[in-house]
This record gives sequence, structure tokens and C-alpha cells, in this order.
Amino acid sequence: MSIFEQKRNKQVFEIIVILKIIYIILSMIPISSFLKLKSEIKSLILMTMVMIIMLITVLAYFSWIVIYIRGRIDKSPKLSDYIETIFMLLVFIFVMLTTGLYNSGYKLLSIFIVLISAIQFGRNYSLGVASISTIIILLTDFISVGLDKQTLSQYFEKDLVLLSALFVTAFILGMYVDIEREHSKELKNLANIDELTGLYNHRYFQEFLQKSIDNADKENQEVSLLFMDIDYFKNFNDINGHQAGDLLLKEISQIMKSCIRGFDVVARYGGEEFAAILPNTTENNAVKIGERIRSSIQNTYFKGQENQPDKNITISIGVSSYPKKAISKHQLINTADDALYRAKSFNRNRVELYRSVLDDLSENMDINKDTVKPLKAFISMMNIKDRYTYGHTERVVIYAKYFGEYLDLTKAEKIRLQVAAYLHDIGKLEIPDDVLNKKEKLTESDRQMFINHPQAGVDLIKDIKQLDEFKPIIKHHHERYDGKGYPSGLKRTEIPYLSRILTIADSFDAMTSNRPYNKVKTQEEGIKELRDNVGTQFDPDLVEKFIDMLDKYKDKF
Ligand code: GH3
Ligand code: MG
Ligand code: MG
Repeated sequence: MSIFEQKRNKQVFEIIVILKIIYIILSMIPISSFLKLKSEIKSLILMTMVMIIMLITVLAYFSWIVIYIRGRIDKSPKLSDYIETIFMLLVFIFVMLTTGLYNSGYKLLSIFIVLISAIQFGRNYSLGVASISTIIILLTDFISVGLDKQTLSQYFEKDLVLLSALFVTAFILGMYVDIEREHSKELKNLANIDELTGLYNHRYFQEFLQKSIDNADKENQEVSLLFMDIDYFKNFNDINGHQAGDLLLKEISQIMKSCIRGFDVVARYGGEEFAAILPNTTENNAVKIGERIRSSIQNTYFKGQENQPDKNITISIGVSSYPKKAISKHQLINTADDALYRAKSFNRNRVELYRSVLDDLSENMDINKDTVKPLKAFISMMNIKDRYTYGHTERVVIYAKYFGEYLDLTKAEKIRLQVAAYLHDIGKLEIPDDVLNKKEKLTESDRQMFINHPQAGVDLIKDIKQLDEFKPIIKHHHERYDGKGYPSGLKRTEIPYLSRILTIADSFDAMTSNRPYNKVKTQEEGIKELRDNVGTQFDPDLVEKFIDMLDKYKDKF
């Protein structure tokens, strides 16, 4: 609930409480004077008791209003509200009975009940209350006078003004309350909607995600999150203009809306980034929904798509889920974003489910717990410092994993290869950000820093004993088969076997992906580059095997 809404509710609540207090005080006056009258016959003790009971009832009633209701304004009446209205009407009947029935000057009290009902629940409810009050008043006339038509019509006539006032109050005030509510609902909706696309905006996204997570905790369910980003949208804007870009954003938003279910929420997260919150949805179902969105967009024709790199408008999607993949809202967003990043770096136009390769590694390969801890620390440092290197590292680990399978390495070797793949670039943590992200040509000293990163990596972990077995692999991952590499200029089989494997995976990823989000070579071009450098840079025994492995596991990359 917004602060504005809370303030408004508090004010309305105060008005209602004041009206209720006035109503009860006004009703108490005739009731207590009636009791005083009667007490001449009955004992004083009895009267005092009745008064005390009444006082306690009234106090209990107001404590209930103030403590239990506590400024809460319900949109529609609940059972307790109906009971409260009946209670007020019964008090009204009692007051009428004790103050001279048709002649009662307290008939006007009914207007309070109508006022309270109109402010609380709007037109229909207050019209209902006005009707019941009318029946009570007319019945009282009838009971008092009996069937004497003339006197009856006289009383009816007298009551006409009061009854009209009841209905006018119920109708006009009730209607006004309804309009005001509708209006503030629209305003609230407007504040949550993105103007261009008509989807929910970033503010609402955050609010709804938090709500869904709280709900998932309560109900023991999962919430899944899709992060979506249009591929090569900058290119589309550059060629077709921003207005065409805006139109495309609108069309894509419509497709997304049509692919989700009624209880899901799709929002515009940022410029051309979208997010869908899928409550009570497992990650596998979320992937299916993501796939539905991806393929719908791929199969729709958009004007101007001919000029896109793939002659098509496509979208990349990252998926994560709470609590399976993330244990907080912040982490859920980050993991979905990481998955999107991976979808982008593996050729775009795809749906990627978040998985931490490190978790895979520690779960499936009973890797030593003492090794995992420093590994995790280095990996998260890397992710913070340089996302490209982090993404690159994860992809190299995946290549290393499948290449290890393909080569039928021993289990120990597979683990060693993957952990080394994870750590191979940690030496880059030592390179300053401006050098690491430099777009222009590197100076000689910048180049020295890059060349030094395998050694720097080993130096960084030199005191961590449990990482000893990975150090030579890391140190030599930039050696060349012909001996012209660094840092030691080792050649051929002098280079550790796992380093020679790692070199190919590392180089292939560096060729086929580029920082950030831009690709230099296609897979085919990358393969050609590997072949062109057989025997000079790469181990001739391994290159064809790597290429064969890429084909064998092509659905994994
Ligand atoms: P990638 O496939 O890696 O996502 O490439 P990309 O070109 O889509 O790269 P990126 O996501 O960085 O591009 C964002 C572009 O989106 C840049 C900006 O011109 C465009 N953009 C952001 N918001 C709007 C908008 O409201 N309207 C229009 N027309 N363009 C927008
Ligand atoms: Mg983007
Ligand atoms: Mg984009």
C-alpha cells in the first residue's frame, strides 16, 4: 500500500470513528433516561448493572474498532461489518422503542448509520442500509397507529422528508465514495504502467516480485523470473530509427503479454529489457514459458527485420527461480540476469536456465570442500570486477567439462581440468579496470600486464595449499605448442596435458565471443582459426578432437 493510500485510509477511518462515537453517544442518552425511568420500579442495583454492561459493551466495541480494525479500510464488507451494521440498526430500533415510537425525535439517528455505511462501502451498501432504516421507521409508524389510514398517512407524510434524506445521502455520498475509489484505483494503476508499452513498469516489478517471494515463503512455493533482452536492438534503432524501435518495443510487449498466464506479470525492466514474474512456477515450466515467448518472437514478422544480423528479430531470455536458485529477491534478479548474459554469449535467441557451474561441479564430483571455498571467493570477486571475464570463465568451464568427457579423462583429471578452467584467469584480478576494458590499442606496459596474468594468477593463490595441483595448469595455459608462448616458453609435451586442453577451450571462447555482448567470429570461423593454428599454437592431436566434441555436444553450448 502506498504512503498516499495509507494516509487517505487513516483520514477516512478517523471520520468513520467520529461518526460512530457520535452515534453511540446520541443513542446512549435516550436509552439511559429510559432506564432511569424504569428503575423507579426496579432496584437501583439492577439499573447500575445494566448501565455497567452497556458501558463495557460500548468500550469493547470501540477497542475493537481502534485495535482490531486499526485504520484498515476494506474495499467490500466482511461478516464483521454486517454484524456491526446490524448492531447499529438494533440500537436504533431500541432507541425508537424507548423514545415514543412514531413520535420519537430520534428517528434522525438513522442518518448516521447511512452516512457511516456510505463512507465505508459506497452506494449499494448504503442504499441497502437506507432501505432497512426506512422499513424500520415505517413499521414503527404502523405498529404505533395500527390500521387507521388517516393517522398513518399523516405520519408517513411527516417521515417523507427524513426518508428522502436517507436515500439522497445514501445515493449521492455513496456514489461519490465509489467514484473516488475508482479514481484512486486508476491513478494507482497509472503509476504502475509503462507509458510506451502498456506493460507494468520497473517500480511495480519490484513491488510484485517482493510480494510473490513473500507469498512463496508462506505457501512453500517457487517463483520463477524471466529476464529478456532484445537481440541487436541498437542495430535496429540505428538503421530503422528510434520511432520504429519504439513500435517494435510495443509489438514485442504484446507478444509477451499473450504468452503468459493471467496471474503472471510482465514488466518493462529498463530500455529494451523486460522481466516476467511467474508465481507458483517451477524453473522447468518457466523455461517452457520463456521458450514460448522466444519462438513467438522469432516466428513473427517485424517490419525492418531484414536489416538485422540474423535477418530476424529475436530475443534472449535468462531464467532463475526462488528459492531453488536464489535465496533473496536481489539474488533472484542477479541470477536471472547472469543467465541472460549467458544466453547472449552463447549466440543469442535462446532461453538459458541459471545454473552455477561451480555448484554443478561440487555436487556432481564430490570435490573437496576446502577447495570449493576459495574457489567461490575468487569467482565472486571476478564477477564483481569484470563480468566479461566471469562469463568467459563459465563458458570455458563448460567446454572443459565436455571436452574432458569426450577425451575420456579420469575422474580426477576431469575435476582438475574444470577447477583449473575456473581459476585460469584469476590473474586478471590484478589488471586495473581501465586497462582491462580498454577499447583502444594496448600500450606495451598494458600488454605486459596481460601477458603476466597466468603467473599473477598462480602468485595470487600461492599460499593456498589445497589449490596446489591446479597451479601448473593455470600457469601454462598461454604456452604455445611451438614454444613461443608465455610465461615459460615450454613446447609440445613439455606443456602440461591439461594446459594444452585448456588453451584450446580458452582460445575458442575468446574468438567466438567478445566483450560485452558483441561477437567477433561465428563457430565456423572459430573452428577454421583453430585449424589454421594447429601445430603452432595448438596441439595437433587435440584440435580435431575438440572440433568433433563441439559437434557431438552441440546442444550443450
Ligand atoms: P544485444 O543483442 O547484446 O542485447 O545487443 P543490443 O544492441 O540490443 O545491445 P543493448 O541491449 O546494449 O542495446 C540497448 C539499446 O536499446 C540501446 C538503446 O538505443 C535502445 N533503447 C533503449 N531504450 C529504448 C527505447 O525506449 N526506445 C528505443 N527506440 N530504443 C531504446
Ligand atoms: Mg540491453
Ligand atoms: Mg539488447
